[in-house]
Amino acid sequence: MTSPSRPAVRRNASPYLYGGEAAAVAQVLESGQYGHSDVTETFEREVAAYLDVPDVVAVESGTAALHLALLAAGIGYGDEVVVPSLTFCASVQAIVAAGARPRFAEIDPDTLCVTGASVLEALTPDTRAVIPVLYGGRAVDLTDAAPVLAGRGITVIEDAAQAFGSRHGDRRVGAFGASGTLTCFSFGPIKNLTCGQGGAVVPRTPQEAETVRLLRMLGIRQSQADRIRSTTYSMDTFGLRYPMSALNAATGLAQLARFEEIEDKRPHLWRAYRDALAGIDGVALVDVDVERSLPFNCVVRVPNRDAVFADLQAQGIGVGVHYPPNHLQAAFAPWHRPLPVTEETAEEIMSLPFHPEMTEQDVTFVVHALRQAVAR
Ligand SMILES: *Cc1c(COP(=O)(O)O)cnc(C)c1O
Repeated sequence: MTSPSRPAVRRNASPYLYGGEAAAVAQVLESGQYGHSDVTETFEREVAAYLDVPDVVAVESGTAALHLALLAAGIGYGDEVVVPSLTFCASVQAIVAAGARPRFAEIDPDTLCVTGASVLEALTPDTRAVIPVLYGGRAVDLTDAAPVLAGRGITVIEDAAQAFGSRHGDRRVGAFGASGTLTCFSFGPIKNLTCGQGGAVVPRTPQEAETVRLLRMLGIRQSQADRIRSTTYSMDTFGLRYPMSALNAATGLAQLARFEEIEDKRPHLWRAYRDALAGIDGVALVDVDVERSLPFNCVVRVPNRDAVFADLQAQGIGVGVHYPPNHLQAAFAPWHRPLPVTEETAEEIMSLPFHPEMTEQDVTFVVHALRQAVAR
């Protein structure tokens, strides 16, 4: 059975185009400057203005942002980085890419995020950084762990891939560099703001911004423009090739110009789900703190998840599971440790279709199908 009358609910997530993206990309194609260009730098300035921070470094992806933030913070061989197991595998792969070891932390089953206590529990003498993941767009408050982390020289690097546009208190996520937090965003296809592919690091100091810029461009100091007029270039440090293409930056600029529409739509959609789900026995909505967050998804807990999941999938409803725990993956077996809360939670979570193309009628349709599936 399928639901062709409701195509939007077939997709769990989806990019949202406002309309200006194609023309913006065409303009870059005609200009002939496809790599890092002044369009990328304009995107950096506009994102910085949106976040109300001095500087932002645009990169190729959220994964690249995390990798570079770890390197800029001096994390490498022999170091351990605390990370929740319940996250997209990119959070963990970035740690491995930096040569460090992931140390998996438990989550609060109500928010699916780490807490100050779960971070402190995971610390070892080798811990050099903590990556709280802002699951679903929800800011993670580590205030109660902050004195210990600062005292041990442990850097906090937020994985805010899902949290562009969210707030922490009265400031945007990403605006806490002065208190020592590095923040990484993703502008991948289904993220709150998409560049097609892309990411950003919010550096804490001008020096750190320069380090990240060098690391993302093979360690080369000169601009492309200076390089083509010169017989040499100076390269005095390690570097990777992680720039953001002007094609991606142009897409992001077109999105940012009309981002208020998403700032309305996503919380509205989440509240529509909350209202529709109220009172369904056996279904618990994972709270995203919608007053402050720009929700990235809508996650419920259902005890008989696999059966409900299969039932909804069979009806053509795009439910998903975010995420299979990383500490149970073969790739990360060397760093496995038992995480009972994560394991229990991961068996019950299910993400409902959630993207800005959806209407309130779509939400009603999904919740009706969910109610029936849970009762079967
Ligand atoms: C999307 C995502 C990433 C990776 O971002 P990419 O742009 O896809 O590389 C990292 N962490 C989380 C939690 C994500 O959702």
